[in-house]
Amino acid sequence: MAQWLNATVSETIYWTSNLFSIKAKTGRLPFIAGQFVRLAVEGPEGRIQRAYSLVNPPDSEHQEFLISTVADGLLSPLLQQLTPGDTLGISQPATGFFILDEVPDGDNLWLIATGTGIGPYLSMLATAEPYRRFAHIILVHSVSRAADLAYKDLIEGFVAQHPGQLHYQPVVTREPHPGALQDRIPNLIASHQLQQQCGQLLNPKSQVMLCGNPQMITDTKALLDSMGLKKNLRRTPGNITVEQYW
Ligand SMILES: Cc1cc2nc3c(=O)[nH]c(=O)nc-3n(C[C@H](O)[C@H](O)[C@H](O)COP(=O)(O)OP(=O)(O)OC[C@H]3O[C@@H](n4cnc5c(N)ncnc54)[C@H](O)[C@@H]3O)c2cc1C
Repeated sequence: MAQWLNATVSETIYWTSNLFSIKAKTGRLPFIAGQFVRLAVEGPEGRIQRAYSLVNPPDSEHQEFLISTVADGLLSPLLQQLTPGDTLGISQPATGFFILDEVPDGDNLWLIATGTGIGPYLSMLATAEPYRRFAHIILVHSVSRAADLAYKDLIEGFVAQHPGQLHYQPVVTREPHPGALQDRIPNLIASHQLQQQCGQLLNPKSQVMLCGNPQMITDTKALLDSMGLKKNLRRTPGNITVEQYW
């Protein structure tokens, strides 16, 4: 059964008016990169809790979350109002199977996210495992506006530490942005634009993780399936491992 920690918010970062990060001081918590916890606060009608992926690597003193505010949502607008010193409930232990332990080996590893779905990949990329297991790792982050490209500096730091092995490809769908592609992920894959831009093949020898918007996941999975990549299940290992946020 889940236990609850009362953590203290230590920092908030506002990337845009509806995209923010919260850091909370907890002391070291064991988890596997890619897992999520539930966050809880007291709302006007009682305690509200939802799942959020951990952005930081395991064994950090602070836990960090990247959150988008759903305008008519119950919890995310309350989380956006938190300030340093406020109390935040964090469920323990972290849980979930969107982790590299569940991903078979492959020629390359595509980490594809929309919006806040980049969070679990940031945790993974701060550990040694992806670099030990995959010759090439391609991080694809699709957002609507360039301002939503959160953690760009952190990512560029990872790329600088792993030159030629980690590739970062931003996608900004609603405006042109230097270095970014500008189309939906399934279109970019179907046209081979994504693979060409990253200099990487995407085929049945690849492993693909998909995280974020359910429509992106459904459409990308269907396209990859038509290219011979199969859903990765414990009983029948395949190529596509997913985490759907809603
Ligand atoms: C395993 C897991 C991990 C998650 N990790 C994150 C995370 O790291 N960051 C994060 O921001 N969210 C994450 N979510 C989504 C999160 O749990 C909440 O659903 C989200 O914050 C909305 O909660 P709410 O109470 O504000 O909205 P609710 O009152 O619960 O309203 C839910 C509705 O809002 C819509 N919705 C939910 N999430 C989004 C979204 N991100 N963008 C647009 N519309 C949405 C859907 O239509 C949904 O039906 C995760 C979900 C799961 C299942």
